[in-house]
Amino acid sequence: MKKRPQKGTKNDKMDDPVPTQNKFQPLSDHEDSDIDDQNSEAELMEDDEEVEQSDNVKTEKPPPIIMHAKYDYKEIITFCKEHTKAGVNIKYTKDKTIIFANEINDFKNLKKELQSVEKTQWHTYATKDERTHGFVIYGLQNRPDEEEVKEDLIKKNINCKTVYKMKNTNTPLYVVITDNKTTLNEVQEKVRTVQQVVVNWKKLINKKEIIQCHKCQSWGHSAANCFAKTKCLKCAGQHLTSECKLRKDNEADQQKIKCANCGERHLANSTECPTYQSRRAHLEKTRLAASEKRGNKNKKFVPAPSPTTNPWTQKEKPEQKQSGSPRQTEPAPATQTQTDEINTSDFMELAKELRN
Ligand SMILES: [Zn+2]
Ligand SMILES: [Zn+2]
Ligand SMILES: [Zn+2]
Repeated sequence: MKKRPQKGTKNDKMDDPVPTQNKFQPLSDHEDSDIDDQNSEAELMEDDEEVEQSDNVKTEKPPPIIMHAKYDYKEIITFCKEHTKAGVNIKYTKDKTIIFANEINDFKNLKKELQSVEKTQWHTYATKDERTHGFVIYGLQNRPDEEEVKEDLIKKNINCKTVYKMKNTNTPLYVVITDNKTTLNEVQEKVRTVQQVVVNWKKLINKKEIIQCHKCQSWGHSAANCFAKTKCLKCAGQHLTSECKLRKDNEADQQKIKCANCGERHLANSTECPTYQSRRAHLEKTRLAASEKRGNKNKKFVPAPSPTTNPWTQKEKPEQKQSGSPRQTEPAPATQTQTDEINTSDFMELAKELRN
């Protein structure tokens, strides 16, 4: 066995404090045909990532790591071997390389090591213990501060991570992010009032049905686990949306709107976007097939929430549903199933960004 590649080793990094370039070279087109992928679970197509992700919850396998390019087999395998104990499996798709770690600690280590590899673009998903639940509090007409609400919830023994006020709503709504063990029943029972005001609780649901990364604007993963290039929601430029110079009230700026996914003139989170629509159609098909395979059990699929507002629209018309999705029109009931797992971190981050 070859001891170590010429590049991409940990020691190289230490010896060479000035990283010069990508340690993995993407494959050229002709090199990929002789890779024999024997991994049975790697039948996953890249567009089925969400489905695979939901299955992971059940089996507690580490989430896949999706590299946004094709990388040389030897280099990537050597890198992975070096940073894992139980090894990995690799799956190549049309333009990506997917790494499957066998153990959660290996996954965490790879994630850490990959972050220090220059110019590498990739994303992954939250592990089970990183997942959170989201709820909405109705009824707080007294409009307390977010911190006051949080304090009250913690006093009432809710494992509350964050509270924030929703923007552009007619009545004050507070989003509460908890750990993934907290249930709707629990919050309803433990917290009937906040600051002596009677409240109602609902689950936070995602109207868009597919999560969108607000860092790179791709659909299907969240920013918390994204290590791809930053792209602006408004103009597709390489900056955070919150740093965009385009202004809503400027006619000329309106002409400069560009979708980071398809290049057309709309915001990257538009449901009109052909990229979104084809992804959604594909996902719909995949989910249907998967649910049929499971004997129609466990039909509900609750993806992580994506923003319900964007920086330039006051408020989306309530429930402007796309056609043909009857099984997703209602939030999941309060039963504790694997589909309760949602990752709300990108929602939170977007809210944070837009607040400024
Ligand atoms: Zn991303
Ligand atoms: Zn911009
Ligand atoms: Zn588009």
